[in-house]
This record gives sequence, C-alpha cells and structure tokens, in this order.
Amino acid sequence: MPDLRFDSQPPRATEIPRPKRAEGQWSLGQREPLNKNEQSKKDDDPLNVRDRILYTYSKKGFDSIDPADLRGRFRWMGLYTQRKPGIDGGRTGSMEEEELDDRFFMMRVRSDGALLNAKALRALGSIGTDFARNSADISDRQNIQFHWIQIEDVPAIWERLDEAGLSSLEACGDGPRPFLGSPVAGVAADEIIDGTPALEEIKRRYLNNKDFSNLPRKFKTSVTGHPSLDTVPAINDVSFVGVVHPEHGPGFDLWVGGGLSTNPMFAQKLGVWIPLDEVPDAWAGVTGIFRDYGYRRLRSKARLKFLVADWGVEKFREVLENEYLEKKLVSMDSPPVSTESGDHVGVHAQKDGNFYIGAAPVVGRINGETLTGLGDLVEKFALAGARLTAQQKLVVLGVAPADVDAVVAGLLELGLDAKPSNWRRNTMACTGIEYCKLAIVDTKERSRALIAELEKRFPELDTPITVNVNGCPNACARTQTADIGLKGMIALDEDGNQVEGFQVHLGGGIGMHDTFGKKLRAHKVTSAGLDDYITNVVTAYLADRTDGESFAA
Ligand code: SF4
Repeated sequence: MPDLRFDSQPPRATEIPRPKRAEGQWSLGQREPLNKNEQSKKDDDPLNVRDRILYTYSKKGFDSIDPADLRGRFRWMGLYTQRKPGIDGGRTGSMEEEELDDRFFMMRVRSDGALLNAKALRALGSIGTDFARNSADISDRQNIQFHWIQIEDVPAIWERLDEAGLSSLEACGDGPRPFLGSPVAGVAADEIIDGTPALEEIKRRYLNNKDFSNLPRKFKTSVTGHPSLDTVPAINDVSFVGVVHPEHGPGFDLWVGGGLSTNPMFAQKLGVWIPLDEVPDAWAGVTGIFRDYGYRRLRSKARLKFLVADWGVEKFREVLENEYLEKKLVSMDSPPVSTESGDHVGVHAQKDGNFYIGAAPVVGRINGETLTGLGDLVEKFALAGARLTAQQKLVVLGVAPADVDAVVAGLLELGLDAKPSNWRRNTMACTGIEYCKLAIVDTKERSRALIAELEKRFPELDTPITVNVNGCPNACARTQTADIGLKGMIALDEDGNQVEGFQVHLGGGIGMHDTFGKKLRAHKVTSAGLDDYITNVVTAYLADRTDGESFAA
C-alpha cells in the first residue's frame, strides 16, 4: 500500500491549480493554522482527549473540563454539549456559545451500517434508560443519538458500547464521520455487490488513526452495492456505489465532493471501476487528498466539495492516481441511478428465502426502551439483527417466512410501523431547538404534529411526497433534497411578531434526478401556519398534475 501519511512528500506528477490566496492547503506548504479550529487541532491531536475524559474529567466533573476540549476536541469522541433549555431561537444568533451550553451532552454512537444484534441493541437500550433519560434518536446517518449524558457517566457508557462492538469515536469533529452502509447489504435479492467487507476494513484501518484525525472539516463516507442508492451517495464527500463492469464484474464507482449545508453540491462521478478489496486504499487516497489539499482557511470552504468544484473530476482523478494510489484506475461509464426509494420500509424477500422488514418510527425518535424491546424481538424470532437507515428508519433482517406477520406486529407494538402513511414514511427532522445549540426552531415535535395532521387531511396518497424539517441552514435533515424542504428561521406572523417559522424549498429530489429544491423567497411560513401551507401546496399539486407527473417535476 502506498505511504498515505501526511508528512510524506508524494511525487508531484500533476500540475496543481493554486488558488489566488493561501487557503491553508498543507500540500502547498500552508501549514500555519489560519483559524482557531486549526490551531486547536495543531495544539493537540483531538484523539488524545479520550484519556482526559476517562481519567480526569469524568472523575473531577464538568467544571474541570478545559474549554478547548469541551467546545473542540470532545467532538472527536462523539460528544457535544447540548443546548440549555429555555433559550429561544431568536436570541441564538446574538449569544456566545458558552451561554448556550448546558452541562449535559449529546452522545452520537456510530453504527457504520453494521448489523446490530440483540446484545448491541440491548446495550444501546440500557444506555438510553440508565444514562440518557430514556432518550434515543435514529439520525439520518445511521447513528443513535443520546441526550442528557453527564461527563461522570461517559466511561461506563463507553464500556457498554465497547462490549457490544460499538463506539462514539470520531462520530463528530473534523475526521471520518460515521460511514453509511446499505441496510440490506448481503441479503437483498437485487444487490449488485456487498460492500460490508470494505466498510469494515476502512473502519479497522482508518478510524482512531492519527493520520486521518485532523481533516479540514467533517468528512462523510458512504458505501452501497444496492441499486436503490440507499446511502444517498450524491451528498457524501466520498461514496462507493455498486456497478457492474462488462469485463471485470461487480465493483464500485467512486463519487466525490457531495454535501449540503449552505452551498449544496452533488457528488461528481469519477467514472471508474474499483474492486471490493481496493476500496479501502481508494478511500485513504481520497481522504488523503482532502487532508493535504483541502482548504483550511475558512470553515465555510473547508469541505471536499469546494476542492472538487475547483479542480474538476479529471484533475481529481489524476492526483488520486498519480500521487496517492500510484496506479491507474479502470474507467467505465457510470450506470443510471435508481428510481426506487432506498428506505427499505415494508416487507421484502431476501435472496436466502427469508425476509427483511423496514419500519418507521416518527422522524427517527425512539427511546431506550424501544431499543431494548427491539433486542428482545431479535432474540425471540432468532433474527439476524437490525440495521439503521439513512432515512431515520430501521430494518430487521433474517425474518423466517412464517414469522413475518408476528414480527410486523411486534415492531408496531414498539412504535415501529412497517406500513406507515406517506407522511410518517417520508418526513425527516433534524434535532432542532430541543437540544441543538445552532437551532432556530423546534423540529421533532413540530414534525410529529404535522404528520398527525397531514395523515388526517391526506390519508391516502398515490405518490410519495417527502418533507424534510430542519432547525437552521445547516441542513442536517437534507433541506434541499426533499419535495418540501423546510429551513428554520424567525418569521413574522400576521401581527408583525417574531415567531418560529421556515423558509421553504420546493421540488428537491435525490435518485433518478438529483435536484436541489428551489428556494422560493416569498414562501416563508410560520411554524403555526405550516399545516395549512403544506395542505395548500399538496392540494395544488394533486389538482394540477398531469399523468405520472411527480411532485418534483
Ligand atoms: Fe442543529 Fe441546524 Fe443541524 Fe438541525 S440543521 S441539527 S438545528 S445544526
């Protein structure tokens, strides 16, 4: 394997475009930290904070925590301070972070697309009930997020995670964020290739690895061999997407530079074929490019998408081949993308004669008891386990044909619906003002009420309509890729009062036609007026559509 360490000097066979001003690109010799985040990472590798948490902060309590760790390096351990209750979104912009900090943490536990067996599900459940006031959310990156975590409890939580083969390591921060894998990897009848071995190897080699713990910013990975593109590869920094080469057979195309937030860009396809066992090297090469050439001066430009946009895919591929992999990649035309939904909700046949069943909580919100109950269900029916999805849902795998109805009923008892309404199935919401310090508005509870109302107003819908509810412009619940995308903001009500509201984006989608929703400046809606606004939009669509016309069209 080529030397991928950042202190090596790779051969320079490609002419690298130089931005007009220094953007903090290490490979161009710009190593001097240009902002406080870069300085903090230079001062101390963020992975070192683990020992301070274990041996100092958890023993001496919250007040002993160095602020540079608290608001910086803790993220590499999957820990963020949560928002102090009672501070409204209108004030958020004018406040220092310290004023918003609560003494409790959100802990993000990564699943990396892995199969969660009964033991792992029960471990997660017990963490929820014992340490997190029974909280637990499924995020749209296949994580479980707990709230109300106290620093004193972190060692015990990590011990339980460790015993179950789970971790919160690098779940946040400027490193390899949780990897997305196909929830039906290895079992789906229509799978092109099972990416699980590659994902496991990437994790084994590169997670908790100081060669990759100081990236310019967060770095999102997805690997799927399922034709539904169930890991939303178009909006990850790096994605490996199952393809079949006419001569070489199944492998992966490489997509780079996707991301949402305030400058959304879809990933670009390199049009290559990478065999399963070379995926980890290719991952290290792409991540190495980001580490070495990524822009570090401004946080707002420190994502791979900006580099890819400036270089173009040809230059990117050239640098990857010449400087990092030291070999040429096999070219191939990228296949068409899928039209199917990748949420896997419902009952589906596996290739081995068993079934997998996808079920929907409400906007990803479950709790510790649900996870423990799911563990019991997995054991009772001798299921293979459960995987989380990139749509805030979960899938249980390995259901014997005779047990399908009983498992569907058991899931429903846990609040997990395998036959949900359109609104429950197709609405996602980010964390929002309940816990997130950046939020302007409430999202989870607002969405719950919205779903209940829309289920009454449109009980039957013959075409899916997606709604993504976000508490601020950061688009954690993918504002721009829903039919109706909502971005939290302060709006004015009829009497001119400042109230919670949303900027609307309409007509976004991901899959066959990757399209960002149009931001309609006039479409700003108060939170209180949201039910009626969506009712009007959906009514107009249903009345005006021509045959087969989707909402996005
Ligand atoms: Fe927080 Fe904004 Fe992300 Fe929602 S979109 S979780 S409010 S940062």
